[in-house]
Amino acid sequence: MQTSISPQLLNNPDIAEADSILRACVHCGFCTATCPTYQLLGSELDSPRGRIYLIKEMLETEQASDKTRLHLDRCLTCRSCETTCPSGVRYGRLIDIGREYVEKKAPRSMLQRLLRKTMLAVIPYTARMSVVLTLARVVRPLLPAQLRKKIPARQHAAAMPTPRHARRMLVLEGCVQPLGTPNTNAAAARVLDRLGISLVSAPNAGCCGALNQHLSDSSGAHAMMRRNIDAWWPYIENGAEAIVMTASGCGLMVKDYVHALKDDAAYADKAARVSALTHDLSEVISGEILIRENPGAFAQVGRGTRVAYQSSCTLQHGQKLGGTVETILRHCGYELVPVADSHLCCGAAGTYTLLQAELSLQLLENKLAALKHGKPEIIASANVGCQMHLASASDLPVKHWIELLENSRNQST
Ligand code: SF4
Ligand code: SF4
Repeated sequence: MQTSISPQLLNNPDIAEADSILRACVHCGFCTATCPTYQLLGSELDSPRGRIYLIKEMLETEQASDKTRLHLDRCLTCRSCETTCPSGVRYGRLIDIGREYVEKKAPRSMLQRLLRKTMLAVIPYTARMSVVLTLARVVRPLLPAQLRKKIPARQHAAAMPTPRHARRMLVLEGCVQPLGTPNTNAAAARVLDRLGISLVSAPNAGCCGALNQHLSDSSGAHAMMRRNIDAWWPYIENGAEAIVMTASGCGLMVKDYVHALKDDAAYADKAARVSALTHDLSEVISGEILIRENPGAFAQVGRGTRVAYQSSCTLQHGQKLGGTVETILRHCGYELVPVADSHLCCGAAGTYTLLQAELSLQLLENKLAALKHGKPEIIASANVGCQMHLASASDLPVKHWIELLENSRNQST
């Protein structure tokens, strides 16, 4: 489409990037068919095309209203629209730029700013979140039912194996995962240990930066990226083969460090190396089990257990790895039940559960109905946020898929 953004504004590299993304859109509207918020609300302004127009108008007029901000806020950044778009419009990047701009042009109320600042000051820091979670668990019985469900039950994590192999890979602990689903990394380490790879984590690495990025705090996100690169660099120089991501949301962010830090003279090259080394756990496991045909490892561990797999948006739309986990689970003897509308978001989407609670809940109900339709015995996910969100309302166990590979009840190797 044609755009007419002022040359002065186009001097800003982010706005120039937004302009080139806008020009790629031919406003065909194919993307509306697969947008979860358009399906729920039926309004053009809550569709990708509508939001693209809003961002275009905002950048052309250099003005925005609360209404502009509302429709951008309602976007899940699930990027289902990117998968559908025939013109390759990089909507995910456009909405990040649009959101940062709208914060300046249509500032939020003091209360909303405070809420966001509090989330940014707490959620990405495991120690702070641990205090909040401990307190929440203490007062849990006094909380309203809806809030009670959001507090994750304590998960037992079996021990991590001691690193013993020459092949080593880094793993990101992240911020929420060590508290909400600590068994995920432990299970990944045990499975990889059996495949001849030791997982190690760098003590100074932390949140990947995605939360800050999606709450329009790109400078905070960039600081976290630099800290992680510094934490990983000595391990990379010592021959770490890869950086394994067990949460697909974090993986998508770290794979994007190369673009986020491209203008940072001190970190651009390192960021490119880090992104190139980063792989989702499913890429690593499928390489080891399916491509290298590791001696039948895990081949029948599932023994026909019926699984509904929830394909996280960050894996299928962001990293374009749809089908990888499903192939691994089938190879391992699980029966995958069909799941309708598997391209649609479950409503977790980072802080969406807190900031857009009503829409998030509707998406959760729809997702759980779709997952349970095929009468599975278990639900599996590839991302901590989705896993905790689904578990908050599911009467079936919800696990990270890697936990299914070492299911001791079924384990055959
Ligand atoms: S499908 Fe792509 S080109 Fe068509 S309106 Fe949506 S974003 Fe634009
Ligand atoms: S990212 Fe998801 S919610 Fe946002 S416009 Fe695209 S499809 Fe809709």
